Amino acid sequence: MERSTFKAAIIGAGPAGLTAAYELSKQRAPVVVLESDPQYVGGISRTVNYKDFRFDIGGHRFFSKSREVEDLWTEIAGEDMLDRPRSSRIYYRGKFYTYPLKPFEALSKLGLIESTLCMLSFLAARLSPTRDPKTFEDWVTNQFGKRLFRIFFKTYTEKVWGMSCSEISADWAAQRIKGLSLGSAIKHALLAGHKPKDRKQIVKTLIDTFRYPRLGPGMMWEACAEKVRKLGGKVMMDRKVTGCRFDSANNLWVVTARSANGDLEEYRAEHLISSMPIRELVAQIEPRLPEPALQAARSLRYRDFLTVGLIVHDRGRFTDNWIYIHDPSVQVGRVQNYKSWSPEMVPDPGYCSYGLEYFCFEGDGLWNTGDRDLINLAKVEIQKVNLAASADVVDGCVIRQPKAYPVYDDAYQQHVNTIRKALDENCPTLHLVGRNGMHKYNNQDHAMMTAMLTAKNILAGERRYDVWAVNQDADYHEAGAGEHPVEFETRVPVRKVATPA
Ligand SMILES: Cc1cc2nc3c(=O)[nH]c(=O)nc-3n(C[C@H](O)[C@H](O)[C@H](O)COP(=O)(O)OP(=O)(O)OC[C@H]3O[C@@H](n4cnc5c(N)ncnc54)[C@H](O)[C@@H]3O)c2cc1C
Repeated sequence: MERSTFKAAIIGAGPAGLTAAYELSKQRAPVVVLESDPQYVGGISRTVNYKDFRFDIGGHRFFSKSREVEDLWTEIAGEDMLDRPRSSRIYYRGKFYTYPLKPFEALSKLGLIESTLCMLSFLAARLSPTRDPKTFEDWVTNQFGKRLFRIFFKTYTEKVWGMSCSEISADWAAQRIKGLSLGSAIKHALLAGHKPKDRKQIVKTLIDTFRYPRLGPGMMWEACAEKVRKLGGKVMMDRKVTGCRFDSANNLWVVTARSANGDLEEYRAEHLISSMPIRELVAQIEPRLPEPALQAARSLRYRDFLTVGLIVHDRGRFTDNWIYIHDPSVQVGRVQNYKSWSPEMVPDPGYCSYGLEYFCFEGDGLWNTGDRDLINLAKVEIQKVNLAASADVVDGCVIRQPKAYPVYDDAYQQHVNTIRKALDENCPTLHLVGRNGMHKYNNQDHAMMTAMLTAKNILAGERRYDVWAVNQDADYHEAGAGEHPVEFETRVPVRKVATPA
């Protein structure tokens, strides 16, 4: 048992946990952060180092509408923050299309016949739309026509979410696609060079630059952990939290953490801040929460993700930050080029490091495939999409990320509400923060904001701020940094139609 009693024990050294720790430490509140990973802080925003080549879990743009968050990034990483140009394209059947799509370029690349067919199918959809569209497929087809839906929406959406576009609800499409239209793309093309000064006015996918730490997002979170330690806070690695017991006699949380070698430790704290997945946290709380809350937590679901990192001789094939792979002939969903995020992501300028991203479910075929086979698959697919010759790949590694996306299915909101109610009634000094910590599709900035508000609440001795209100406004989110084009962001689609047998 650790002797001290902390103001707060914090589960997870991701952006949320470390932000909470930093904000509390600055006010001299003693904290301990318990992180299950033996090596990396940063959580999903970590940067994995393989032979001095650095890989993100998906490239992480640093962009926030919140001045407070932007300032905190500057405070932590200072001169290590770069302003980087953004470039991304879509690969489809042998051709690359600028993303965000440029309508004239897209039509000319599709060729006269295909673009004429696209226009005819668009007109057909306009003249005879599906009345009361129920599915993503029907909704997008109504807006763009069947052919453009197939080329620019269907494949990537299905790769990301692992379900057919005819199973995804139309509501989701309506929410996601509102930020970017043919009209806004044309306006942007015409107004290039006249960028609005206020970042809030910019449609997110049209942002041309973003901030990024020199050595990847992990650098930000390593610097933050260091600052916490310097202020006297503890950041304990290889400490997987396995038990959270509330000792009502002393009004304290007693948190049990286990190391890889099986050692158990206990930490006592007035407050418990958790960024670990709600599903796992709720099962650990003692005294046990009422059965409906336990059942609700068991029902929460996640989508998982893996990156195959390839080290490749640099032949100058592409300089985009990332390329969406809409092509149905390969499984890879997106390819990152980390050297374009920051030249210092590679130790030798003669090489590039690519991240081939595969969306999957923990335990499915792709997830369980051995590293060697995944690297071989990636070598074949990178050549197939014309981004590198297999023979130029000199090495590779696999990075698996369980619970990359909290799933928003039909019932998730109800489950989260049930859990929140039980926690409010039984655990007033337990604070949920972050992404999986709140089962919310939060980016770094929102995860940090929930932590900043939680720190304020703890220091004030009352819940002055409602952390659940962060990221409620879709526009706020859309202007933040995100991992998918605007039409794929924020909400995980809701399955509306039963899967065909
Ligand atoms: C593919 C992808 C791309 C993304 N791109 C962007 C982007 O461009 N910009 C952006 O801002 N955001 C992006 N995000 C989102 C960003 O990664 C998250 O918002 C952020 O990492 C959430 O921070 P967090 O601290 O809430 O959670 P996490 O990052 O998940 O951190 C939680 C931490 O808790 C630890 N933990 C879990 N269980 C336990 C336990 N039992 N005991 C101890 N420790 C535990 C984990 O190991 C982890 O370190 C992206 C996400 C994905 C999946």
